[in-house]
Amino acid sequence: MQHLPGNLFILSAPSGAGKSSLINALLAQHTDMQLSVSHTTRAPRPGETDGVHYHFVSVEQFKQLIAEGVFLEWAEVFGNFYGTSRHAIEMELAKGRDVFLDIDWQGAQQIRPQVPGVLSVFILPPSVAELEKRLNNRGTDSAEIIAKRMAQAQSEISHVTEYDYVLINDDFQQCLQQFAAVVLSQRLTLAKQQQKQPALFASLLATSAK
Ligand code: 5GP
Repeated sequence: MQHLPGNLFILSAPSGAGKSSLINALLAQHTDMQLSVSHTTRAPRPGETDGVHYHFVSVEQFKQLIAEGVFLEWAEVFGNFYGTSRHAIEMELAKGRDVFLDIDWQGAQQIRPQVPGVLSVFILPPSVAELEKRLNNRGTDSAEIIAKRMAQAQSEISHVTEYDYVLINDDFQQCLQQFAAVVLSQRLTLAKQQQKQPALFASLLATSAK
């Protein structure tokens, strides 16, 4: 993917780290960023809307989309397929909007070599005990189900060292501030500022050269 004015952020976390709440809170504060809507073969959960939370498709449709080269990345996560559409992201980045991908480590591994300047952020829970507590928040699940969720979470966490930034979601507001700081710092890199303000750079550099 060529250099585009918007910034692309990958956000990964084990379930129970608070990833969705953080993204939603950040998006509520900023109108110039958006969350990419993935395709998935999993069934919609109560309250999920097609085209808003996911594009819900059949396995056959998903395989067709793979064959057509629609996806920038795709992966099987917990027995379902998930994929990110290349075109939708490129359109937003070209308009100068920042785009967030809520994807797992497999997707992150596929995107890094394709998108120069992509920034990846991993969200960790503050402790194993807290993670266990959050995964068991309903208090109705069997020990076996909780153990399975813990194993899935630990498998995702084992990829934390592949990421650029790590946020520890202990205090939600503090974590949100830190997340916003990561996004802001990426917007202020020399490359992005030059891309955003070419005329300013050209005129100021021309003046200073005199
Ligand atoms: P859920 O089914 O709970 O919405 O998502 C399960 C997992 O799939 C989460 O870790 C989420 O980040 C990941 N996921 C969602 N969309 C995509 C995608 O397009 N690509 C990849 N690789 N993972 C995704």
